[in-house]
Amino acid sequence: MTVYRVLYRGSLSSCNYECGYCPLAKTRNTRDELQQDAHQVERFVDWVATAGRSLGILFTPWGEAVVHPHYRRALVRLSRMPHVQRVAIQTNLSGHLDDFSSAGRNALAFWATYHPTQTTLARFIRQCRKLEEMRLRYSVGVVGLRENFDTIAELRRRLPPDVYLWINCFKNDPRYYRADDLSFLREIDPYVDLNRVDYPSRGATCRAGDSVFSVDGHGNVRPCHFVDRQIGNIYRDNIFALLAPRTCPNVTCECHIGYVHRPDLDLYWLFGDNVLERIPAGWPLVQPAFTQARTAVGSARCPCQEK
Ligand code: SF4
Ligand code: SF4
Repeated sequence: MTVYRVLYRGSLSSCNYECGYCPLAKTRNTRDELQQDAHQVERFVDWVATAGRSLGILFTPWGEAVVHPHYRRALVRLSRMPHVQRVAIQTNLSGHLDDFSSAGRNALAFWATYHPTQTTLARFIRQCRKLEEMRLRYSVGVVGLRENFDTIAELRRRLPPDVYLWINCFKNDPRYYRADDLSFLREIDPYVDLNRVDYPSRGATCRAGDSVFSVDGHGNVRPCHFVDRQIGNIYRDNIFALLAPRTCPNVTCECHIGYVHRPDLDLYWLFGDNVLERIPAGWPLVQPAFTQARTAVGSARCPCQEK
């Protein structure tokens, strides 16, 4: 049975953290904006309840959502729906986690990120322990800046071995990492090379727009967050009838939440049912076939290098 994977990004655009590299740092939504976002999220959850399909849902907010009660309520409610195979959220893990004690353990998972300039390692690990006590699964991501390497090593030591720690590579300068830097990063994250690449994508076959789609706060559907072509609207259309195989119009696909859905990269095989929360199936078992970037595959499908 097809599991449709939905990437939801509503109107939220604020964060309680102030990471120097992030455009959302120091942004705040007004009370009215938050109320509108809460209404949109609730409407989306109501739609999921009646969608009649097997679904996986990843919340990819602009900013931090778990600090807001309406997202916590939505996650718990979705996790308890029998046809929701998975519901996950990208979060800095700073919010109240106790609300998840009544969540469906099989469905709910977290794509957590650690931000060393914004919180202490001790506090972040305490939040991780809470998830473990509730038997909720999570991955942890951290930006692979060289000045973070000691912290990354300590984070790896303090996380349980069965928690996948992934590195968000710095890609702006191809000479940024020395050979010994890459050796270190590969010890932490054997799959780090997969995200050192901007995958050529124009003309590539992609599940986005077919079994994967992006939904905004108004219910508008696009193939993914990076392709601005509206397919329909979940509140107006039978969206499942409008989905179909498509090819990518963009020159490159640069973000895991996009390229993970490219059939030619075969990453569903690596992540299995955990594709939304970014946990490799069978982790900490490492799949050697995936420890190198899949550039050969991407280049073969789409040779244009126009970037
Ligand atoms: S926690 Fe994430 S969204 Fe918030 S400021 Fe940092 S990078 Fe941006
Ligand atoms: S390859 Fe990436 S950018 Fe292109 S449609 Fe797929 S997810 Fe979107």
